[in-house]
Amino acid sequence: MSAAHTPAGRGPGHVVVIGGGIAGLAAAHRLLAGGARVTVLEASGRLGGKLRAGEIAGVPVDLGAESMLARRPEAVQLARTVGIGDRLQPPTTATAALWTRDALRPMPKGHVMGVPGDLAPLAASGVISPEGMARIAQDETLARTETGEDVAVGEYVAARLGREVVDRLVEPLLGGVYAGDAYRISMRAAVPQLFEAARARRSLTEGVRDLQARAAASAPQNGQSGAAPVFMGIDGGIGTLPEAVAGAVRRDGGEIRSGAAADALHWTAEDGWRIRTGDRTLTADAVVLAAPAGAAARLLRADCPAAATELAGVDYASMALVTMAFRRADLDRVPGGSGFLVPPVDGRRIKASTFSSHKWGWLGDADRDLFVLRTSVGRYQDDADLARDDSELVALSLADLGAAVGLSARPVASAVTRWEGGLPQYAVGHLERVARIRAAVAGMPGALRVCGAVYDGVGIPACVGSARRAADEILGTLAADRAPGE
Ligand SMILES: Cc1cc2nc3c(=O)[nH]c(=O)nc-3n(C[C@H](O)[C@H](O)[C@H](O)COP(=O)(O)OP(=O)(O)OC[C@H]3O[C@@H](n4cnc5c(N)ncnc54)[C@H](O)[C@@H]3O)c2cc1C
Repeated sequence: MSAAHTPAGRGPGHVVVIGGGIAGLAAAHRLLAGGARVTVLEASGRLGGKLRAGEIAGVPVDLGAESMLARRPEAVQLARTVGIGDRLQPPTTATAALWTRDALRPMPKGHVMGVPGDLAPLAASGVISPEGMARIAQDETLARTETGEDVAVGEYVAARLGREVVDRLVEPLLGGVYAGDAYRISMRAAVPQLFEAARARRSLTEGVRDLQARAAASAPQNGQSGAAPVFMGIDGGIGTLPEAVAGAVRRDGGEIRSGAAADALHWTAEDGWRIRTGDRTLTADAVVLAAPAGAAARLLRADCPAAATELAGVDYASMALVTMAFRRADLDRVPGGSGFLVPPVDGRRIKASTFSSHKWGWLGDADRDLFVLRTSVGRYQDDADLARDDSELVALSLADLGAAVGLSARPVASAVTRWEGGLPQYAVGHLERVARIRAAVAGMPGALRVCGAVYDGVGIPACVGSARRAADEILGTLAADRAPGE
């Protein structure tokens, strides 16, 4: 195939970013700031990937991710840099619950990903049975449990504190982030602070208390009324962040093509990178690969089979979000708080519900007569319900909401958003896998870096962080390549 040079053709410091999710867009923004010429290729007709702004009954809502960790600075900083810092809003309530053992129970305070440091609030919450509490207490006296180089979160915590704390706390909390299986997810990659605590102390609860003491001592203050918010949303939805970043990319001279999947990627000595998209071929000095693992594996198969094989081994979880709007006047009961998580062990259909109108002040501002909430269905290897049609997913969500919080009203509007392959699963050994992928691509003849949810964390700030790293490494490589001739 001959390379038909496009208007964006090869130039000094031209970087093609593959994938227009938040990671790809953040990488493009950073590359432009560093002086590169940038073309973003997005396969679908919409930018943002798992961030998706939508509308229900005329109210703006998030149909994908809805909140970002603010304790990690990258995502909040990105929002500020692209000019929407004034729309950042913390949740109005952080009070969450667990629907377990046939009741809605307050989420006990004082834990790290469900592992308690303080047993009193946990006992008071009723989340764990008396026998389960007695088993947790054995952690203080049990001999050390080795972590090895990595261990599944569930396996380690069950060995120390018993299965009940895994099944009723760790599993739903971890599920809220990964939609995964605690007995399979890497402790080192997914909850590194717990891994550190497990290595530092014989007792895991003592290790958690150490972490909490350290976190309290170093918690950032907002300068006025105590601790800075842990999470942040955006007025109008987190789903508006990608378009804001894309706007900044375009203003800085970057080109963004949507509906333009990268179909093939090859390095050639004469042209540098050649990226085929449809019937066109772009050339580039460097590539940032910000697509999910399956797509990245396909693109690297020919030129970097070692990385492709590693990427092909990353499993994904699928889920659906059911967003519903109710007329407040129809609601016999609006439960308080931001929502609840559901431990899979309880055998319910939904995995969580977020009371969006309670959680986000901007939703209340948008329409005070409507109450918006959403449920999630499906998780890793537990996706039979995802074969159901939309109306069945709405019906099963309403049935569970009725049982959990006594909600009997019917929604005035509902939307089902399916996230097939939504979240990569960080299996035991994930960090080593990522290191092997990075080493393999760094050894290619042309500059190529990877970023996104597959690598350093699935949360938005982690994706933005990995994008910064990829962009900075590419900029460093391009500068080094140019230096001798200048
Ligand atoms: C339902 C759901 C809820 C979530 N909630 C939260 C939350 O509240 N807070 C949080 O921090 N995180 C949340 N996450 C996780 C977070 O949203 C994602 O991990 C993150 O947005 C992933 O960003 P990304 O850019 O790495 O990948 P993606 O968003 O997957 O973007 C990758 C892009 O690459 C494109 N692409 C694929 N193949 C090609 C190709 N060949 N050529 C060109 N383009 C290609 C895709 O179309 C896609 O747009 C949630 C995830 C899901 C699924």
